[in-house]
Amino acid sequence: MTDLTWRNWGGNQHSHAANVLTPGTVDEVSALVKEAMATGRKVKAIGSGHSFTAIAVADDQRVVLSRLNRLVSVEGNLVTVEAGMPLHQLNEVLAKLGLAMPNLGDIDQQTIAGAISTGTHGAGAKHSTLASVVEAVTLVTGTGEVLHIDSASPLFPAARLSLGALGILVEVTLRCVPAFYLLADERPMPLAEVLRGLPSEIESNEHLEFYWYPYTDRAQLKRNNKVEVADRPLPGLRTWLDEEFLSNTVFEGACRLGQKIPAMVPAISAVAARALTARTYTARSDRVFCTTRRVRFVEMEYEIPREHLPEVLATLPRIIETLPFKIQFPVEVRFTGPDDIWLSHGYGRDSAYVAIHQYSGTPYEPYFRAFEAVCEPLGGRPHWGKMHYRNAESLRRAYPKFNDFLAVRDQLDPARVFTNAYLHQVLGD
Ligand SMILES: Cc1cc2nc3c(=O)[nH]c(=O)nc-3n(C[C@H](O)[C@H](O)[C@H](O)COP(=O)(O)OP(=O)(O)OC[C@H]3O[C@@H](n4cnc5c(N)ncnc54)[C@H](O)[C@@H]3O)c2cc1C
Repeated sequence: MTDLTWRNWGGNQHSHAANVLTPGTVDEVSALVKEAMATGRKVKAIGSGHSFTAIAVADDQRVVLSRLNRLVSVEGNLVTVEAGMPLHQLNEVLAKLGLAMPNLGDIDQQTIAGAISTGTHGAGAKHSTLASVVEAVTLVTGTGEVLHIDSASPLFPAARLSLGALGILVEVTLRCVPAFYLLADERPMPLAEVLRGLPSEIESNEHLEFYWYPYTDRAQLKRNNKVEVADRPLPGLRTWLDEEFLSNTVFEGACRLGQKIPAMVPAISAVAARALTARTYTARSDRVFCTTRRVRFVEMEYEIPREHLPEVLATLPRIIETLPFKIQFPVEVRFTGPDDIWLSHGYGRDSAYVAIHQYSGTPYEPYFRAFEAVCEPLGGRPHWGKMHYRNAESLRRAYPKFNDFLAVRDQLDPARVFTNAYLHQVLGD
Protein backbone atom coordinates (compact mmCIF):
# COMPACT_ATOMS: atom_id res chain seq x y z
CA MET A 1 0.00 0.00 0.00
CA THR A 2 2.84 2.42 0.76
CA ASP A 3 5.11 1.26 -2.09
CA LEU A 4 6.01 4.14 -4.35
CA THR A 5 5.67 1.89 -7.37
CA TRP A 6 2.22 0.69 -8.31
CA ARG A 7 0.58 -1.31 -11.02
CA ASN A 8 -3.05 -1.99 -11.69
CA TRP A 9 -4.76 -5.40 -11.59
CA GLY A 10 -4.57 -5.79 -15.38
CA GLY A 11 -0.82 -5.08 -15.31
CA ASN A 12 -1.12 -2.52 -18.12
CA GLN A 13 -0.77 0.68 -16.02
CA HIS A 14 2.20 1.61 -13.84
CA SER A 15 3.22 4.60 -11.79
CA HIS A 16 5.96 5.72 -9.49
CA ALA A 17 4.65 8.25 -6.97
CA ALA A 18 6.80 10.87 -5.24
CA ASN A 19 5.14 9.86 -1.97
CA VAL A 20 2.21 7.80 -0.69
CA LEU A 21 -0.18 9.22 1.90
CA THR A 22 -2.53 7.13 4.04
CA PRO A 23 -4.75 9.56 5.96
CA GLY A 24 -6.83 8.15 8.80
CA THR A 25 -9.25 11.06 9.30
CA VAL A 26 -11.17 13.54 7.18
CA ASP A 27 -9.10 16.35 8.73
CA GLU A 28 -5.92 14.65 7.56
CA VAL A 29 -7.34 14.39 4.03
CA SER A 30 -8.26 18.06 4.12
CA ALA A 31 -4.81 19.03 5.41
CA LEU A 32 -2.97 17.09 2.71
CA VAL A 33 -5.07 18.69 -0.03
CA LYS A 34 -4.49 22.18 1.41
CA GLU A 35 -0.77 21.46 1.52
CA ALA A 36 -0.81 20.27 -2.10
CA MET A 37 -2.78 23.34 -3.18
CA ALA A 38 -0.33 25.65 -1.37
CA THR A 39 2.74 24.00 -2.84
CA GLY A 40 1.44 23.41 -6.37
CA ARG A 41 1.49 19.62 -6.02
CA LYS A 42 -0.96 16.99 -7.29
CA VAL A 43 -2.75 14.30 -5.30
CA LYS A 44 -4.51 11.23 -6.64
CA ALA A 45 -6.76 9.11 -4.43
CA ILE A 46 -6.83 5.53 -5.61
CA GLY A 47 -8.92 2.50 -4.75
CA SER A 48 -7.94 -1.14 -5.37
CA GLY A 49 -6.30 -0.51 -8.76
CA HIS A 50 -8.92 -2.45 -10.70
CA SER A 51 -9.31 0.10 -13.50
CA PHE A 52 -7.71 -0.73 -16.84
CA THR A 53 -7.41 2.91 -17.89
CA ALA A 54 -4.75 5.22 -16.47
CA ILE A 55 -7.47 6.88 -14.35
CA ALA A 56 -5.78 5.92 -11.06
CA VAL A 57 -2.22 6.72 -12.12
CA ALA A 58 -0.65 9.09 -9.59
CA ASP A 59 1.88 11.34 -11.25
CA ASP A 60 2.91 12.99 -7.96
CA GLN A 61 1.33 12.03 -4.59
CA ARG A 62 -0.78 8.89 -4.22
CA VAL A 63 -3.48 8.86 -1.54
CA VAL A 64 -4.67 5.47 -0.27
CA LEU A 65 -7.78 5.42 1.91
CA SER A 66 -7.25 1.95 3.38
CA ARG A 67 -7.61 3.45 6.90
CA LEU A 68 -10.89 5.14 5.98
CA ASN A 69 -12.85 1.91 5.64
CA ARG A 70 -15.36 1.94 8.52
CA LEU A 71 -19.12 1.86 8.88
CA VAL A 72 -20.26 5.38 9.83
CA SER A 73 -24.04 5.20 10.39
CA VAL A 74 -27.23 3.34 9.55
CA GLU A 75 -30.65 4.97 9.21
CA GLY A 76 -33.17 2.46 7.94
CA ASN A 77 -31.94 1.44 4.47
CA LEU A 78 -29.48 4.34 4.27
CA VAL A 79 -25.99 3.18 5.13
CA THR A 80 -23.03 5.56 5.33
CA VAL A 81 -19.54 4.10 5.03
CA GLU A 82 -16.09 5.56 4.69
CA ALA A 83 -15.10 5.74 1.06
CA GLY A 84 -12.07 3.44 1.22
CA MET A 85 -14.19 0.42 2.20
CA PRO A 86 -13.82 -2.46 -0.30
CA LEU A 87 -17.05 -3.92 -1.69
CA HIS A 88 -16.41 -7.36 -0.15
CA GLN A 89 -16.22 -5.71 3.28
CA LEU A 90 -19.30 -3.62 2.51
CA ASN A 91 -21.23 -6.78 1.57
CA GLU A 92 -20.38 -8.39 4.91
CA VAL A 93 -21.26 -5.23 6.85
CA LEU A 94 -24.61 -5.01 5.06
CA ALA A 95 -25.38 -8.72 5.56
CA LYS A 96 -24.95 -8.27 9.33
CA LEU A 97 -27.48 -5.42 9.16
CA GLY A 98 -29.94 -7.55 7.16
CA LEU A 99 -29.27 -5.36 4.11
CA ALA A 100 -27.63 -5.66 0.70
CA MET A 101 -26.62 -3.66 -2.35
CA PRO A 102 -29.46 -3.93 -4.89
CA ASN A 103 -26.99 -4.83 -7.62
CA LEU A 104 -23.27 -5.45 -8.05
CA GLY A 105 -20.76 -6.04 -10.83
CA ASP A 106 -18.73 -9.20 -11.47
CA ILE A 107 -16.26 -8.80 -8.62
CA ASP A 108 -16.13 -7.36 -5.09
CA GLN A 109 -12.51 -6.22 -4.86
CA GLN A 110 -13.03 -2.55 -5.70
CA THR A 111 -13.43 0.16 -3.07
CA ILE A 112 -16.82 1.83 -2.91
CA ALA A 113 -15.21 5.16 -3.93
CA GLY A 114 -13.40 3.60 -6.89
CA ALA A 115 -16.47 1.69 -8.03
CA ILE A 116 -18.86 4.65 -8.05
CA SER A 117 -16.25 7.02 -9.50
CA THR A 118 -15.90 5.11 -12.80
CA GLY A 119 -19.52 4.06 -13.33
CA THR A 120 -19.12 0.45 -12.24
CA HIS A 121 -22.33 -1.45 -13.01
CA GLY A 122 -23.88 -4.87 -13.00
CA ALA A 123 -26.73 -6.22 -15.09
CA GLY A 124 -30.47 -5.45 -14.94
CA ALA A 125 -32.79 -3.28 -16.97
CA LYS A 126 -34.31 -1.85 -13.79
CA HIS A 127 -30.85 -1.03 -12.43
CA SER A 128 -28.15 1.42 -13.39
CA THR A 129 -24.60 2.12 -12.18
CA LEU A 130 -23.65 1.55 -8.52
CA ALA A 131 -23.46 5.35 -8.33
CA SER A 132 -27.22 5.48 -8.85
CA VAL A 133 -27.78 4.11 -5.32
CA VAL A 134 -25.62 6.85 -3.81
CA GLU A 135 -27.80 9.17 -1.71
CA ALA A 136 -25.02 11.48 -0.51
CA VAL A 137 -21.26 11.88 -0.55
CA THR A 138 -18.80 13.80 1.58
CA LEU A 139 -15.76 14.93 -0.33
CA VAL A 140 -12.71 17.07 0.22
CA THR A 141 -12.52 19.58 -2.63
CA GLY A 142 -9.41 20.90 -4.34
CA THR A 143 -9.21 23.73 -1.81
CA GLY A 144 -9.39 21.33 1.15
CA GLU A 145 -13.00 22.23 1.98
CA VAL A 146 -15.12 19.35 3.32
CA LEU A 147 -18.44 19.30 1.41
CA HIS A 148 -21.49 17.17 2.13
CA ILE A 149 -23.48 16.75 -1.09
CA ASP A 150 -26.93 15.18 -1.28
CA SER A 151 -29.89 15.37 -3.63
CA ALA A 152 -30.72 18.90 -2.43
CA SER A 153 -27.41 20.16 -3.86
CA PRO A 154 -27.01 21.24 -7.50
CA LEU A 155 -23.63 19.43 -7.36
CA PHE A 156 -25.29 16.04 -6.76
CA PRO A 157 -25.56 14.80 -10.41
CA ALA A 158 -21.84 15.51 -10.85
CA ALA A 159 -20.53 14.30 -7.48
CA ARG A 160 -22.02 10.80 -7.52
CA LEU A 161 -19.79 9.72 -10.45
CA SER A 162 -16.83 12.03 -10.80
CA LEU A 163 -13.74 10.12 -12.06
CA GLY A 164 -11.84 11.38 -9.02
CA ALA A 165 -11.83 14.82 -10.66
CA LEU A 166 -13.87 16.79 -8.13
CA GLY A 167 -12.32 15.80 -4.83
CA ILE A 168 -11.38 12.99 -2.50
CA LEU A 169 -14.48 11.08 -1.42
CA VAL A 170 -14.35 10.36 2.30
CA GLU A 171 -17.90 9.13 3.00
CA VAL A 172 -20.62 7.64 0.84
CA THR A 173 -24.28 7.08 1.78
CA LEU A 174 -25.91 4.17 -0.04
CA ARG A 175 -29.59 3.38 -0.46
CA CYS A 176 -29.54 -0.33 0.30
CA VAL A 177 -32.31 -2.92 0.18
CA PRO A 178 -33.34 -5.71 2.53
CA ALA A 179 -30.98 -8.69 2.18
CA PHE A 180 -32.13 -11.09 -0.55
CA TYR A 181 -31.31 -14.37 -2.22
CA LEU A 182 -30.91 -14.94 -5.93
CA LEU A 183 -31.73 -17.90 -8.09
CA ALA A 184 -29.01 -18.14 -10.73
CA ASP A 185 -29.90 -19.88 -13.97
CA GLU A 186 -26.98 -20.31 -16.38
CA ARG A 187 -27.27 -22.22 -19.63
CA PRO A 188 -25.39 -22.64 -22.90
CA MET A 189 -27.44 -21.74 -25.98
CA PRO A 190 -26.90 -20.93 -29.65
CA LEU A 191 -26.19 -17.20 -29.95
CA ALA A 192 -29.02 -16.76 -32.50
CA GLU A 193 -31.52 -18.16 -30.01
CA VAL A 194 -30.28 -15.81 -27.28
CA LEU A 195 -30.63 -12.82 -29.61
CA ARG A 196 -34.13 -13.83 -30.74
CA GLY A 197 -35.35 -14.05 -27.15
CA LEU A 198 -33.65 -10.92 -25.85
CA PRO A 199 -36.54 -8.42 -25.64
CA SER A 200 -38.68 -10.70 -23.49
CA GLU A 201 -35.70 -12.04 -21.49
CA ILE A 202 -34.62 -8.49 -20.62
CA GLU A 203 -38.16 -7.65 -19.55
CA SER A 204 -38.80 -10.79 -17.50
CA ASN A 205 -35.48 -11.24 -15.67
CA GLU A 206 -34.22 -8.87 -13.01
CA HIS A 207 -30.55 -9.38 -13.98
CA LEU A 208 -29.69 -10.63 -17.46
CA GLU A 209 -26.39 -11.07 -19.25
CA PHE A 210 -24.76 -13.37 -21.75
CA TYR A 211 -21.34 -14.34 -23.05
CA TRP A 212 -20.56 -15.02 -26.69
CA TYR A 213 -17.61 -17.30 -27.51
CA PRO A 214 -15.59 -15.92 -30.47
CA TYR A 215 -15.08 -18.29 -33.44
CA THR A 216 -18.32 -20.10 -32.47
CA ASP A 217 -22.06 -19.51 -32.68
CA ARG A 218 -22.44 -20.42 -29.00
CA ALA A 219 -23.35 -18.29 -26.00
CA GLN A 220 -24.00 -18.69 -22.30
CA LEU A 221 -27.10 -16.96 -20.94
CA LYS A 222 -27.17 -15.94 -17.26
CA ARG A 223 -30.40 -15.00 -15.52
CA ASN A 224 -30.48 -13.96 -11.86
CA ASN A 225 -33.80 -13.44 -10.08
CA LYS A 226 -34.86 -12.84 -6.50
CA VAL A 227 -36.23 -15.75 -4.48
CA GLU A 228 -37.59 -15.95 -0.95
CA VAL A 229 -35.55 -18.95 0.18
CA ALA A 230 -32.13 -20.29 -0.72
CA ASP A 231 -33.15 -23.92 -1.09
CA ARG A 232 -30.84 -24.90 -3.95
CA PRO A 233 -27.26 -24.28 -2.79
CA LEU A 234 -24.49 -25.52 -5.06
CA PRO A 235 -22.54 -28.37 -3.45
CA GLY A 236 -19.10 -27.16 -2.31
CA LEU A 237 -17.35 -29.42 -4.81
CA ARG A 238 -19.40 -28.06 -7.72
CA THR A 239 -18.70 -24.46 -6.64
CA TRP A 240 -14.98 -25.20 -6.51
CA LEU A 241 -15.11 -27.02 -9.84
CA ASP A 242 -16.99 -24.21 -11.63
CA GLU A 243 -15.61 -21.08 -9.97
CA GLU A 244 -12.07 -22.06 -9.13
CA PHE A 245 -10.98 -25.00 -11.25
CA LEU A 246 -12.76 -24.40 -14.60
CA SER A 247 -13.07 -20.58 -14.53
CA ASN A 248 -9.58 -19.94 -13.20
CA THR A 249 -7.13 -22.89 -13.29
CA VAL A 250 -8.29 -24.55 -16.51
CA PHE A 251 -9.04 -21.24 -18.21
CA GLU A 252 -5.57 -19.91 -17.33
CA GLY A 253 -4.03 -23.08 -18.84
CA ALA A 254 -6.13 -22.68 -21.99
CA CYS A 255 -5.10 -19.02 -22.31
CA ARG A 256 -1.40 -19.88 -21.94
CA LEU A 257 -1.72 -22.61 -24.55
CA GLY A 258 -3.53 -20.21 -26.91
CA GLN A 259 -0.85 -17.60 -26.35
CA LYS A 260 1.88 -20.10 -27.29
CA ILE A 261 0.00 -21.63 -30.22
CA PRO A 262 -2.48 -18.99 -31.49
CA ALA A 263 -3.77 -21.27 -34.25
CA MET A 264 -5.35 -23.42 -31.54
CA VAL A 265 -7.50 -20.60 -30.09
CA PRO A 266 -10.62 -21.17 -32.25
CA ALA A 267 -10.58 -24.88 -31.34
CA ILE A 268 -10.08 -24.06 -27.65
CA SER A 269 -12.96 -21.58 -27.81
CA ALA A 270 -15.19 -24.19 -29.46
CA VAL A 271 -14.31 -26.79 -26.80
CA ALA A 272 -14.94 -24.24 -24.01
CA ALA A 273 -18.32 -23.29 -25.48
CA ARG A 274 -19.31 -26.96 -25.86
CA ALA A 275 -18.07 -27.84 -22.36
CA LEU A 276 -20.45 -25.37 -20.71
CA THR A 277 -23.19 -27.07 -18.78
CA ALA A 278 -26.43 -25.65 -17.44
CA ARG A 279 -26.69 -24.99 -13.72
CA THR A 280 -29.19 -23.43 -11.36
CA TYR A 281 -28.52 -22.56 -7.75
CA THR A 282 -29.55 -20.16 -5.01
CA ALA A 283 -27.29 -18.09 -2.77
CA ARG A 284 -26.94 -14.75 -0.98
CA SER A 285 -27.18 -11.99 -3.58
CA ASP A 286 -23.57 -10.77 -3.47
CA ARG A 287 -22.30 -14.35 -3.74
CA VAL A 288 -24.22 -14.79 -6.98
CA PHE A 289 -23.27 -11.41 -8.45
CA CYS A 290 -19.54 -11.59 -7.66
CA THR A 291 -16.98 -14.19 -8.65
CA THR A 292 -13.24 -14.63 -8.26
CA ARG A 293 -11.16 -13.61 -11.26
CA ARG A 294 -7.60 -14.86 -11.17
CA VAL A 295 -6.85 -14.96 -14.90
CA ARG A 296 -5.50 -11.51 -15.73
CA PHE A 297 -6.80 -9.67 -18.77
CA VAL A 298 -7.28 -6.22 -20.26
CA GLU A 299 -10.71 -4.98 -21.18
CA MET A 300 -12.66 -2.42 -23.16
CA GLU A 301 -16.37 -2.00 -22.45
CA TYR A 302 -18.76 0.13 -24.43
CA GLU A 303 -22.21 1.24 -23.38
CA ILE A 304 -24.40 1.63 -26.46
CA PRO A 305 -28.05 2.61 -26.91
CA ARG A 306 -29.74 -0.78 -26.59
CA GLU A 307 -31.34 -0.73 -30.04
CA HIS A 308 -27.88 -0.85 -31.65
CA LEU A 309 -26.82 -4.14 -30.03
CA PRO A 310 -27.64 -6.42 -33.01
CA GLU A 311 -25.56 -4.23 -35.32
CA VAL A 312 -22.58 -4.21 -32.93
CA LEU A 313 -22.70 -7.96 -32.36
CA ALA A 314 -22.97 -8.62 -36.09
CA THR A 315 -19.77 -6.62 -36.65
CA LEU A 316 -17.68 -8.32 -33.97
CA PRO A 317 -17.04 -11.66 -35.75
CA ARG A 318 -15.96 -9.73 -38.84
CA ILE A 319 -13.50 -7.69 -36.76
CA ILE A 320 -12.15 -10.79 -35.04
CA GLU A 321 -11.70 -12.70 -38.32
CA THR A 322 -9.49 -9.97 -39.78
CA LEU A 323 -7.18 -9.54 -36.76
CA PRO A 324 -3.55 -10.67 -37.04
CA PHE A 325 -3.93 -12.44 -33.65
CA LYS A 326 -6.55 -14.54 -31.87
CA ILE A 327 -9.04 -13.57 -29.17
CA GLN A 328 -8.97 -15.78 -26.11
CA PHE A 329 -11.81 -14.32 -24.03
CA PRO A 330 -15.59 -14.41 -24.48
CA VAL A 331 -17.52 -11.19 -25.14
CA GLU A 332 -19.79 -10.14 -22.26
CA VAL A 333 -23.14 -8.40 -22.86
CA ARG A 334 -25.21 -6.79 -20.09
CA PHE A 335 -28.32 -4.62 -19.96
CA THR A 336 -29.09 -1.71 -17.65
CA GLY A 337 -31.66 1.07 -17.38
CA PRO A 338 -31.31 4.87 -17.49
CA ASP A 339 -30.15 7.22 -14.75
CA ASP A 340 -29.69 10.98 -14.41
CA ILE A 341 -26.03 11.13 -13.37
CA TRP A 342 -24.16 13.44 -15.73
CA LEU A 343 -21.14 11.22 -16.50
CA SER A 344 -22.98 7.92 -16.16
CA HIS A 345 -22.69 5.75 -19.26
CA GLY A 346 -26.42 5.11 -18.96
CA TYR A 347 -27.37 8.79 -18.66
CA GLY A 348 -30.91 9.12 -20.02
CA ARG A 349 -31.19 5.87 -21.96
CA ASP A 350 -31.68 2.11 -21.96
CA SER A 351 -28.27 0.55 -22.35
CA ALA A 352 -26.51 -2.52 -23.61
CA TYR A 353 -22.93 -2.92 -22.39
CA VAL A 354 -20.59 -4.92 -24.60
CA ALA A 355 -17.26 -5.88 -23.02
CA ILE A 356 -14.33 -7.27 -24.98
CA HIS A 357 -11.24 -8.72 -23.31
CA GLN A 358 -7.83 -10.06 -24.12
CA TYR A 359 -5.50 -12.24 -22.05
CA SER A 360 -2.79 -10.11 -20.39
CA GLY A 361 0.42 -10.06 -22.37
CA THR A 362 -1.31 -10.76 -25.71
CA PRO A 363 -1.80 -8.07 -28.42
CA TYR A 364 -5.12 -6.25 -28.19
CA GLU A 365 -4.92 -2.71 -29.58
CA PRO A 366 -6.16 -3.34 -33.18
CA TYR A 367 -9.10 -5.30 -31.69
CA PHE A 368 -10.03 -2.57 -29.22
CA ARG A 369 -9.61 0.23 -31.76
CA ALA A 370 -11.74 -1.53 -34.37
CA PHE A 371 -14.47 -2.16 -31.80
CA GLU A 372 -14.39 1.46 -30.66
CA ALA A 373 -14.70 2.59 -34.29
CA VAL A 374 -17.99 0.67 -34.45
CA CYS A 375 -19.39 1.91 -31.14
CA GLU A 376 -18.41 5.59 -31.23
CA PRO A 377 -20.59 6.64 -34.22
CA LEU A 378 -23.57 4.89 -32.60
CA GLY A 379 -23.29 7.25 -29.62
CA GLY A 380 -21.38 4.67 -27.56
CA ARG A 381 -19.87 5.69 -24.24
CA PRO A 382 -16.72 3.93 -23.03
CA HIS A 383 -16.53 2.69 -19.44
CA TRP A 384 -14.34 5.18 -17.58
CA GLY A 385 -12.38 2.40 -15.89
CA LYS A 386 -11.85 0.27 -19.00
CA MET A 387 -9.57 0.88 -21.95
CA HIS A 388 -10.56 3.34 -24.66
CA TYR A 389 -8.93 5.91 -26.91
CA ARG A 390 -11.43 8.80 -26.70
CA ASN A 391 -10.59 12.39 -25.78
CA ALA A 392 -12.55 15.26 -24.25
CA GLU A 393 -13.68 16.61 -27.59
CA SER A 394 -15.27 13.33 -28.67
CA LEU A 395 -16.68 12.53 -25.21
CA ARG A 396 -18.42 15.92 -25.10
CA ARG A 397 -20.57 14.72 -28.02
CA ALA A 398 -21.53 11.56 -26.11
CA TYR A 399 -22.55 13.22 -22.84
CA PRO A 400 -25.25 15.96 -22.95
CA LYS A 401 -24.14 17.30 -19.54
CA PHE A 402 -20.39 17.17 -20.19
CA ASN A 403 -19.95 20.97 -20.00
CA ASP A 404 -22.02 21.15 -16.80
CA PHE A 405 -19.65 18.62 -15.26
CA LEU A 406 -16.65 20.70 -16.35
CA ALA A 407 -18.20 23.78 -14.70
CA VAL A 408 -18.47 21.86 -11.40
CA ARG A 409 -14.84 20.77 -11.83
CA ASP A 410 -13.81 24.43 -12.24
CA GLN A 411 -15.70 25.23 -9.05
CA LEU A 412 -14.41 22.35 -6.88
CA ASP A 413 -10.88 21.88 -8.22
CA PRO A 414 -9.84 25.25 -9.66
CA ALA A 415 -6.10 24.51 -9.36
CA ARG A 416 -6.47 20.95 -10.77
CA VAL A 417 -4.94 19.38 -7.68
CA PHE A 418 -6.59 16.07 -8.68
CA THR A 419 -5.69 15.93 -12.34
CA ASN A 420 -3.48 13.37 -14.05
CA ALA A 421 -2.73 12.50 -17.68
CA TYR A 422 -5.95 10.47 -18.03
CA LEU A 423 -8.18 13.27 -16.73
CA HIS A 424 -6.35 15.66 -19.04
CA GLN A 425 -7.20 13.33 -21.94
CA VAL A 426 -10.89 12.81 -21.12
CA LEU A 427 -11.84 16.15 -19.53
CA GLY A 428 -9.29 18.56 -20.93
CA ASP A 429 -7.27 21.19 -19.04
C1 LIG B 1 -11.52 -8.37 -12.80
C2 LIG B 1 -12.32 -7.08 -12.94
C3 LIG B 1 -13.71 -7.16 -13.01
C4 LIG B 1 -14.45 -5.98 -13.16
N1 LIG B 1 -15.81 -6.09 -13.24
C5 LIG B 1 -16.54 -4.97 -13.47
C6 LIG B 1 -17.95 -5.05 -13.60
O1 LIG B 1 -18.56 -6.12 -13.48
N2 LIG B 1 -18.63 -3.90 -13.89
C7 LIG B 1 -17.99 -2.71 -14.05
O2 LIG B 1 -18.65 -1.72 -14.34
N3 LIG B 1 -16.67 -2.60 -13.87
C8 LIG B 1 -15.94 -3.70 -13.58
N4 LIG B 1 -14.58 -3.57 -13.41
C9 LIG B 1 -13.98 -2.23 -13.41
C10 LIG B 1 -13.89 -1.67 -11.99
O3 LIG B 1 -15.10 -1.85 -11.28
C11 LIG B 1 -13.61 -0.16 -12.01
O4 LIG B 1 -12.50 0.12 -12.78
C12 LIG B 1 -13.47 0.43 -10.60
O5 LIG B 1 -13.29 1.81 -10.70
C13 LIG B 1 -12.29 -0.10 -9.82
O6 LIG B 1 -12.35 0.34 -8.48
P1 LIG B 1 -11.02 0.54 -7.63
O7 LIG B 1 -11.38 0.63 -6.20
O8 LIG B 1 -10.04 -0.47 -8.03
O9 LIG B 1 -10.58 1.99 -8.11
P2 LIG B 1 -9.26 2.47 -8.87
O10 LIG B 1 -9.19 1.76 -10.18
O11 LIG B 1 -8.09 2.38 -7.97
O12 LIG B 1 -9.64 3.99 -9.13
C14 LIG B 1 -10.68 4.32 -10.02
C15 LIG B 1 -11.03 5.79 -9.90
O13 LIG B 1 -11.61 6.06 -8.64
C16 LIG B 1 -10.99 7.18 -8.07
N5 LIG B 1 -11.01 7.07 -6.63
C17 LIG B 1 -10.68 6.03 -5.87
N6 LIG B 1 -10.85 6.34 -4.57
C18 LIG B 1 -11.27 7.62 -4.54
C19 LIG B 1 -11.65 8.51 -3.50
N7 LIG B 1 -11.60 8.17 -2.22
N8 LIG B 1 -12.06 9.76 -3.84
C20 LIG B 1 -12.14 10.14 -5.12
N9 LIG B 1 -11.80 9.33 -6.15
C21 LIG B 1 -11.39 8.09 -5.85
C22 LIG B 1 -9.57 7.15 -8.60
O14 LIG B 1 -8.98 8.42 -8.53
C23 LIG B 1 -9.85 6.76 -10.03
O15 LIG B 1 -10.30 7.90 -10.71
C24 LIG B 1 -13.80 -4.72 -13.23
C25 LIG B 1 -12.40 -4.66 -13.15
C26 LIG B 1 -11.67 -5.83 -13.00
C27 LIG B 1 -10.17 -5.74 -12.91
